[in-house]
Amino acid sequence: MRTRIATTGAVVVAAWALPYGLGSYTIHVVDIALIYALLAIGMGLAMGVSGQINLAQVAFFGVGAYSVAILTTHYGYGFWPAALLSVLATVVTGLFVGIPALRMQSHYLGIVTLGLALGFVNWITNAHISGGADGISGVPGPTLPGVDLSSEYLYYYLEAVVFGLALVFGLFVVRTSLGRRLRAMRDDSLAAGATGAEVPLLRMTAFLLASLYGGLAGVLYSGLIRYVAPETFSIANMFILLAMVVIGGRRSLVGCVVGAIGLTLVREWLSDFSTYAQLGYGVVVVVMVVFAPTGLAGVPARLRGRYERWRGRETARAELRPFTPYSPVERPDTAGVLLAVEGVTKQFRGLRALDGVSLAVHEGEIRGIVGPNGSGKTTLFNVISGFYRATAGTVRLVGDDTTAARPYALSLAGLSRTFQNLRLFGQLTVRENVLVALDRSRTHSIWRYALWQPGVWMHERLLRAQADEVLERFGLADFAAAGPTSLPYGIQRRIEIARAMAARPRLLLLDEPAAGLNGEEVQQLIRIVRSIRDSGTTVILIEHNMGLVMSLCEKVTVLSGGNVIAEGTPQEVVTAPEVIEAYLGESDLAELGMDTPEAADRPDRAKEATS
Ligand code: ADP
Ligand code: MG
Repeated sequence: MRTRIATTGAVVVAAWALPYGLGSYTIHVVDIALIYALLAIGMGLAMGVSGQINLAQVAFFGVGAYSVAILTTHYGYGFWPAALLSVLATVVTGLFVGIPALRMQSHYLGIVTLGLALGFVNWITNAHISGGADGISGVPGPTLPGVDLSSEYLYYYLEAVVFGLALVFGLFVVRTSLGRRLRAMRDDSLAAGATGAEVPLLRMTAFLLASLYGGLAGVLYSGLIRYVAPETFSIANMFILLAMVVIGGRRSLVGCVVGAIGLTLVREWLSDFSTYAQLGYGVVVVVMVVFAPTGLAGVPARLRGRYERWRGRETARAELRPFTPYSPVERPDTAGVLLAVEGVTKQFRGLRALDGVSLAVHEGEIRGIVGPNGSGKTTLFNVISGFYRATAGTVRLVGDDTTAARPYALSLAGLSRTFQNLRLFGQLTVRENVLVALDRSRTHSIWRYALWQPGVWMHERLLRAQADEVLERFGLADFAAAGPTSLPYGIQRRIEIARAMAARPRLLLLDEPAAGLNGEEVQQLIRIVRSIRDSGTTVILIEHNMGLVMSLCEKVTVLSGGNVIAEGTPQEVVTAPEVIEAYLGESDLAELGMDTPEAADRPDRAKEATS
């Protein structure tokens, strides 16, 4: 913390002293570099942080710059009111550009945004109001009482203040609720949806942020150069901007800034060789993408990772601690139906994965769902949790029809799930994975970022304290700062359950939670699931490990070929002739010792049953 304050202080002092040593041309280049740095932060927020391909950033830049030029020269506005209106106009443009993001996947978005950027340049080159190919000159600069902003030295300070605030705001966004969700969406948008993130709105928010920075940069550009013309906003410049962000490191805002400033300086230095330079940037970008996809900003982390692997001791000391049970709650005598699936069919083209499946799960139950591979178990979870829309039939959660509900809405309504093939947010730390699920706020609450930042911070403090509790309970405290993908499989499974429980669900869906676990880990899983149920959360569990099902579930539903072929206590189910025929085979049953559930508690038994 202290070193951080010292570094920040040193940077501020250096930024303040910088113009004293520079010639008038160099300060001009620095002024331009800061404008590009603002643009790059916007790019970084959309592309690196949120994972949304945005090739319209130069268009946002252009909307900001041209709005100032048009409002001041055509309509007689002063610079400051024009600046305010221009930033607003850019943000509105950003919202419009974000509309396709509501429905479209990322690479198509690249084409759409590129098209919009091309269209914009085309329009300003041809329209009368924008001065055609000649552009608009004679834009009045900003005025401040007692400060001569026509001096590029003093303009630098104006820029530096705007830039400093914009960078701090960007970092604040990235490190708190909104940014964490954006990063989670980038890493795994399905899992983000399942943990309560409104993915389409978040993608639109990414464009909103990018356009805000584009607008600010455009306004500053108009005020500095006093002249706007189409070539500044061309696709060639878009490419340079992309190169800045890729080279600097798109996931780190500071990396984006370093890339932008560095490349502006290099570009100036190579301005006599601009054709070759363009080619050179292309080569550097390709090299970076191949050898250092996280850019310059990622290099320290990679070196640190390598060093730690070389030492190999740091991680060895961390251990998975035992789970601390929840305090049990009194179970009501008459439990109502929590989840009702009624006649659900799911058709995939020619394949009927679910065929009129009905089941009712009562509050406080641990329900097992078993069935051979491909019998539709995961599909059933996907329908219940809103990932798939049922072709026919209804799903009711606590009596409400949720057949057509979105995953985020179901998450907020108290449904939480894990995935058969782990879906952790790979670039987030373990703590952040839990934080994403703990955060129950809706996307519209991001107005606080604009108007009431202390509110954001207080919410954040609360979430972090809760995250520590969750990590402690699940024995994961040692791994809080680790990246989940580097951890052993058993720990990743535990993290996924911790994340699902962080959302404080009423109903928890576990899709093969024991897959890949060793005997001891399966025993711990049994303890965890029991405690979760005793704390008042209903559990539905898909499992191949029959030992686990026998010892945990009061009631089991057997699926085969998309149909429910049996339902009852584990003992009833394993002796049902349909089940034996469809699934297990009599010899397997005897071998597994199904008739004695206690046997299943023994780790060796549990392990055998997995295979
Ligand atoms: P289980 O989890 O019981 O092993 P699944 O629910 O994953 O089975 O799959 C049931 C059937 O549905 C399988 O035949 C699978 O290939 C098919 N299926 C699942 N998801 C899709 C999908 N998105 N598109 C097409 N077929 C699918
Ligand atoms: Mg499955």
